[in-house]
Amino acid sequence: MQVDGDRLWRTLAAYARIGGTARGGVSRLALSDEDRAARDRLAADLRDLGAAVTVDDVGNMYGRIEGSDPAAPTLCLMGHTDVVPVTPSHWTRDPFGGELVNGEVWGRGAIDMLNLTASQAVVLKALARRGWRPRGTLVYLACADEEAGGLHGAGHVCKKHWDSLRANYLLTENGGTVSQHGGQLNVSVHVGEKGVAWRRLRVKGTPGHGSMPYGADNALVKAAKIITRLADYRPSPYVDELWRGFVGSLDLDPGVKQALMDPVSVEESIDKLPKEYQELAKSALKAIK
Ligand SMILES: [Zn+2]
Repeated sequence: MQVDGDRLWRTLAAYARIGGTARGGVSRLALSDEDRAARDRLAADLRDLGAAVTVDDVGNMYGRIEGSDPAAPTLCLMGHTDVVPVTPSHWTRDPFGGELVNGEVWGRGAIDMLNLTASQAVVLKALARRGWRPRGTLVYLACADEEAGGLHGAGHVCKKHWDSLRANYLLTENGGTVSQHGGQLNVSVHVGEKGVAWRRLRVKGTPGHGSMPYGADNALVKAAKIITRLADYRPSPYVDELWRGFVGSLDLDPGVKQALMDPVSVEESIDKLPKEYQELAKSALKAIK
């Protein structure tokens, strides 16, 4: 569908000024009055256009355009409005300025992922304005917490507002990779992501005063050794069918592809890839230096 490019820019710029996590360090609870006002304006706009929109107690926003057929599948467009923290001194522009410069929107969230959150909002707005009625319901969800773990974002809304959000299909960030070779377009579908596996480590030592007991085992020193060993550990690469399929879809030399599919050479092969592929490949690996 076609949407008004100007509107998309303005919405993205407005969204790029939102930075809950970055400002507060813990996410949406730290939203400034300005951030809240930008979000509430969008919610009010969507409501005026006929979409049922709710902003919950945490700051998550969700809306829906009701489908005409209750049996038809529901599609959810899900974005997040928070961003990771920034170090403003490393920026040449205000990371929350939302400035339009030479055809680009500047803001920490402009890439991850307010570009998509804003695009989805503009699409919803355009469809609502037209009075469009889908067969299956279209749900829009803008989570206020994704970067800080998602507990207050997707976790919260699924727990508290599941009836309003229940969807058969969901489109969100980084669902796949588009590449082209031999005139053929390939779209990979991501079926999983790296995750965390938190562990609690207890290290015991002998407590003491700064000067005694002399030569006692210090828990911190032991912990430092353990952490160094963990950091030095290199698991052997494991190459599966998914990785082979992914590599196969890339526009690379057959020899390079072969090396990437071999557990022995995969790591060093990645380092030799063009830069744009290097990051992509590393993000697909479970563990890498
Ligand atoms: Zn993101």
